[in-house]
Amino acid sequence: MDTIRDAAFQEAACMSRLGTETAFEVLARAKALMAEGKDIINLGIGSPDFQTPENIVEAGIKALRDGYHFYTPAKGLPELRDAVRDDIKKYRQVDVDPDNILIVPGGKPTMFYAILMFGEPGAEIMYPNPGFPIYESMIKFSGAKPVPIELTEETGFSFDPEKVLASINKNTRLIIINTPANPTGGVIEKAALDRLAEGLAEHPHVVILSDEIYSRMTYDGLEHESLLQYEHLRDRLIVLDGWSKTYSMTGWRLGWGLWPKSLIREAERLQINSVSCPSACVQVAGIEALRGPQDAADKMMVAFDERRKIIVEELNSIPGFTCQMPKGAFYAFPNIKGTGFGAKELEEKLLHEAGVAVLAGTSFGHLGEGYLRFSYASSIDEIKAACGRVRDLLS
Ligand code: PMP
Repeated sequence: MDTIRDAAFQEAACMSRLGTETAFEVLARAKALMAEGKDIINLGIGSPDFQTPENIVEAGIKALRDGYHFYTPAKGLPELRDAVRDDIKKYRQVDVDPDNILIVPGGKPTMFYAILMFGEPGAEIMYPNPGFPIYESMIKFSGAKPVPIELTEETGFSFDPEKVLASINKNTRLIIINTPANPTGGVIEKAALDRLAEGLAEHPHVVILSDEIYSRMTYDGLEHESLLQYEHLRDRLIVLDGWSKTYSMTGWRLGWGLWPKSLIREAERLQINSVSCPSACVQVAGIEALRGPQDAADKMMVAFDERRKIIVEELNSIPGFTCQMPKGAFYAFPNIKGTGFGAKELEEKLLHEAGVAVLAGTSFGHLGEGYLRFSYASSIDEIKAACGRVRDLLS
């Protein structure tokens, strides 16, 4: 752990177990190099490069003018929770009670609250590896034992449900699933989800957190498979989604969690104890995003699809790289084992010698060794130039 400790202070032991999201650190390093005049192409951060659609921006501005300056109910504005209920009905074909929806500032708070709710020494929490780094960080912080769910390239970065089920024991409290996934761009196979859901019927003590932040970001007509489709799991399922990716709103900080009736009050308390409520005017913009025209969000996916095909072709032409076609999100996760470099080593080399910022697969867990994550939330020119630089360096 790299915390700088001052001997005069006695911090809580859990602070030494808190990890981070390396994307923010790489972004800072890339920015620092750019400030020194270095020419850096940044394919490191997972933020769409489009502006938030105009109708949403206008709704946010109007909300400020209309006086949305104060606390809202901790769970969020009732009109927004109704809009989320309708969105769930539209895209997941399931009727839910808006009372079980907690509006939060971004996608992260739902996982933060869920992991704090179930994690403590003696408990085990299962999470995808390679996967979003905050899962493992927060599990360790809570004192629980992180138990990886191995995602393998051979299965399109899906998992073996029998292996997952076999790792569940009496201490398993929470299992985290993410599809479509960061950093792999994979989606979990329907058959694997079906089998997992079936097997979980025998483990009624296990709660499921389904991170569906990329639910609207699938390609080739592939339908998003929400865990909400499994009726027998709904009384112990937490669904995480939000506005960051779909509507290019990462800086607005707005997300939602759907909680089981038995957990929503405690989730609300965690919110009251931390942030009180999400920003009022941002919530009004969130209503416009869900209820207003969807063409800007759809257009963004057309652009991502074009870039996806280009980046995969480019990456496969780099010596030592092989890259699968991502099925969702906006990340390519090439296998770089043929280069002879380790992931972190190559990340460093590309940043300093090629001026290309990408992330080592190991930023997403130890099973990410041998891979790099390229975000293709950048222009086609930038993608081609970045891949060209990497190719030149490794040729
Ligand atoms: N889950 C996953 C899988 C993500 O990739 C991200 C963001 N990169 C989040 C959650 C968090 O989203 P937000 O930025 O809205 O907090």
